[in-house]
Amino acid sequence: MTTRRSIPDADAMEALGARLAGLLAAGDLVVLDGPLGAGKTTLTRGLGAALGARGAVTSPTFVLAREHPTASGVPLVHVDAYRLATGRELDDLDLDYDGAIVVVEWGTGKLDGVADSWIDIAISRETSDDSRDVTITGHGPRWAQLDAALAA
Ligand code: ADP
Ligand code: MG
Repeated sequence: MTTRRSIPDADAMEALGARLAGLLAAGDLVVLDGPLGAGKTTLTRGLGAALGARGAVTSPTFVLAREHPTASGVPLVHVDAYRLATGRELDDLDLDYDGAIVVVEWGTGKLDGVADSWIDIAISRETSDDSRDVTITGHGPRWAQLDAALAA
């Protein structure tokens, strides 16, 4: 289940995050991949805004994980795993994967075995303008119909 789209600007990236937010509930995991400046935090900002998350969603410099309370009561946990070399180090953070919506920047390859369903979002910048190529892949039973859910 993979869907690809071109995202022309930062506002559209936030809108994509908001779209995803509507599909997410406690226990869901989103893994963001892409180079520095790709738009991972921008997407998460839109996602957080749509969830009514309190506190600014930023690229944390000193914190690895920040928990934002949201309107629904299910917290958004935003992780920047850039400085974590291995899944073991991410594991050491003891994140509440069951009770929260967890979004991990730079999490690819570091979350093996954490969840049986998750969403991978790969962002690349291959064009000379601001647009980003975004590839969204749903893994596991929970996201078997992700393409249709995103299109609806
Ligand atoms: P990352 O978290 O992946 O390092 P950020 O989201 O912090 O990236 O930064 C992306 C930067 O690129 C922001 O300054 C944003 O305004 C800008 N930008 C320009 N075009 C886009 C786009 N199409 N999608 C996302 N961000 C964009
Ligand atoms: Mg970031």
